[in-house]
Amino acid sequence: MKLPWHPTRLALSLMLLSCMTLAQGQTHDHDHDHEGESLEQGKHVHGEVTINVALEGNSLAVEVNAPALHVLGFERAARSAEEQRVMSEANAWLKSGTSIIGVPTTARCRLQSVEFTPPSATAKHPDYRASYLYRCEQPASLAWVELWALRRLKGVEKVEFTLLNGSVQKQLELGSAPGRIALR
Ligand SMILES: [Zn+2]
Repeated sequence: MKLPWHPTRLALSLMLLSCMTLAQGQTHDHDHDHEGESLEQGKHVHGEVTINVALEGNSLAVEVNAPALHVLGFERAARSAEEQRVMSEANAWLKSGTSIIGVPTTARCRLQSVEFTPPSATAKHPDYRASYLYRCEQPASLAWVELWALRRLKGVEKVEFTLLNGSVQKQLELGSAPGRIALR
């Protein structure tokens, strides 16, 4: 399993997000489409999505990688107005950053930025990749997360979940409805 997290670079959460991109062999921020697809094409496993959560200071970073199959219900160009609608709604959802994860309200987390790369229509096995950075006023209250994104994804059987809390890294294999996951 690939580990996109680089603990030494966590001090700056925005650096972290670009680091995950760099870890996959990219050298330029603007090459997401090409590089992402060529690297991932044919590599994902149907039924599986990857969700990574990193906590560092006041920052909470979340990354979601999912085969298009589980975002859209199909893995090809839209062939009807209905499929086009499904695609637009999925893009709007992942870009908005709403209903991606749930955390205790007492942590007072706010979404700071979203990095979203929609798959192109030409990849055989397109992946959706989205990263979210939250700033939490009371990070000590971050006792758990709920993976709300899973409520919207379709046909997921397994979640490869990585938690990075300071220097501690934990990897879990979760089912499609894992409930609350302890962060501490
Ligand atoms: Zn596929």
